[in-house]
Amino acid sequence: MNICVVGTGYVGLVTGVCMSDLGNNVTCVDIDVKKIANLKKNILPIYEPGLEELIKHNKNRLSFTTNLKAAVQSAEVIFIAVGTPPKENGDANLSYVKQAAKSVGQYMNNYKIIVDKSTVPIGMGDMVGSIIKENCKNKHQYDVVSCPEFLKEGSAIHDFMNPDRIVIGADRKEAAEKVAEIFKPLNAKMVLTDMRSAEMIKYASNSFLATKISFINEIANICERVKADVKIVSEVMGMDKRIGGLFLNAGAGFGRSCFPKGVAALISIAKSEDYDPIILNAVVEVNRLQRKVVLNKIKKVLGTLEGRSIGILGIAFKPNTDDIREAVAVEIIPTLQEKGCSIKAFDPAAMENAEKELKGVKFCKDAYAVAKDVECLVVLTEWNEFKELDFEKIKKLMKKPVIVDGRNIYDPKTMKKAGFEYVGIGRG
Ligand code: NAD
Repeated sequence: MNICVVGTGYVGLVTGVCMSDLGNNVTCVDIDVKKIANLKKNILPIYEPGLEELIKHNKNRLSFTTNLKAAVQSAEVIFIAVGTPPKENGDANLSYVKQAAKSVGQYMNNYKIIVDKSTVPIGMGDMVGSIIKENCKNKHQYDVVSCPEFLKEGSAIHDFMNPDRIVIGADRKEAAEKVAEIFKPLNAKMVLTDMRSAEMIKYASNSFLATKISFINEIANICERVKADVKIVSEVMGMDKRIGGLFLNAGAGFGRSCFPKGVAALISIAKSEDYDPIILNAVVEVNRLQRKVVLNKIKKVLGTLEGRSIGILGIAFKPNTDDIREAVAVEIIPTLQEKGCSIKAFDPAAMENAEKELKGVKFCKDAYAVAKDVECLVVLTEWNEFKELDFEKIKKLMKKPVIVDGRNIYDPKTMKKAGFEYVGIGRG
C-alpha cells in the first residue's frame, strides 16, 4: 500500500518506518526542513533503539520529504502524526493537526483515507473531516479513521511490532478494514469501533496508567511514615493479576510521554462537559507534589541547599529515550539552582537536548565525572547503566557519600553497607 505519514517525530517516524517494514511504500513528511535533510543522510532526529537499522533495512520502501502535496497525491492512506502539545490551560494544542488536515484537503486528488494517529480530544476526528471537506475544492471522497498510538518511547519499535491491541475507529466499516489491512502482518488483536470511542480509549488508557503511578507514589509516602517498604509492597501487589505489576514503581513521578498532557486534556474535556473529574485531579496533584518529595529529601540529607553541589544521574523522562519534555529533571534542576545549588549532570542519551534546555549545568561524560566532588547524587532516570556502577569508586570521588534515589533502583541495605547515606522513595 502507498502510505503518507504527516509529522516525522517520535510517533510518525517510528510508525512510518515500521509500516515500511510490513511491506508498504511509506513517505514520511515534515515541515522541519533540517529534520528531513538529516533523515535523507541517515542522521536520526531521535534516539530510539533499533530505529537506525530498520531505516537502513527498508530504504527501498521508505522516503523522507517536505513535499506534502506529492506525498498526499501518491498515497492511498494518509496518517496524521503531528504533535498535540499541552496549552497553558491543559487543553491539547490542535493547531498542528488542523493545519495538517487543511493541507491534506487542499492537495487531495482522489479518494483518500485520513488516519489520525495523533492523540486528540474526543470529536477531533469529526473536525478533521470537516476541515478536509472545507478545503478540498474538487470534492473528492474521503474517510477519517482514528488509530491511536500506544507505543512507548525507548521500546517503540518493539511496541509497534507487538501491540497488545490495535484500535481502529471509523464511521465506515470499509475504511476501517482498509486500515486494518496495513497491520494484518502483525497478527495482533484488532478492535474496530467508532471514532469517538477510539479517541477516548487512548485518553482513558493513559490516564489509568498515570493513576497507577500516582497511586503507588501515595502508597510510598504512607509506607515511609509507617516504616514499610513500597518496593516489596508494590511487587507483591503486582502478583495479583487483577492489579498487574507494570506502572507500579514508586519514584519522582511521571514526566512526559503522554501522561501529564493526557490527564490534563481529559480533565479539560470533562470540565467542558460540566463534569468535575475527582480522581484525575488527584492524579495530577499527587504527581506535582512528588517532585517536592524528592526536593525535600535532598534538602533533608544536606541540611540546606544553599551552596551545595549536586550530581544528577538521568535527565530523560524515562530510560532508552532522549526525550526530556516535561521530565522530572527538567523541573527539579532549575529549582535546585534557584535555591543556590551547583549542578552537574549526565544522561546516556539526552545530553544534546538537555544542553539546549538547561542553563548553568555542568554536563559530564559519565556518572563518575558527575560524582566527582559532589555532596549528593540524585537518580532521576532509571537507566540500566546506573544500576551497575562501581560504588567503591563513586564513594571515593564524592565529597560526601549521599544518594537520593528518585527511582528506587538501589537496595537500601546494600547501599548502606557500601558506606552511603541512602534515601529512596517509600523505603521506610
Ligand atoms: P513530535 O513533536 O516528536 O513530532 C511531531 C512532528 O510533526 C514534528 O517533527 C513537527 O515538525 C511535525 N509537524 C508539525 N506540523 C506539521 C505539518 N503541518 N506537516 C508536517 N509535519 C508537521 O511529536 P510525537 O511525540 O511524535 O507525538 C505525535 C502525536 O502522537 C502526539 O499527538 C502525541 O500525543 C502522540 N503520541 C506520542 C507518543 C510518544 O511516546 N511520543 C506515544 C503515543 C502517542
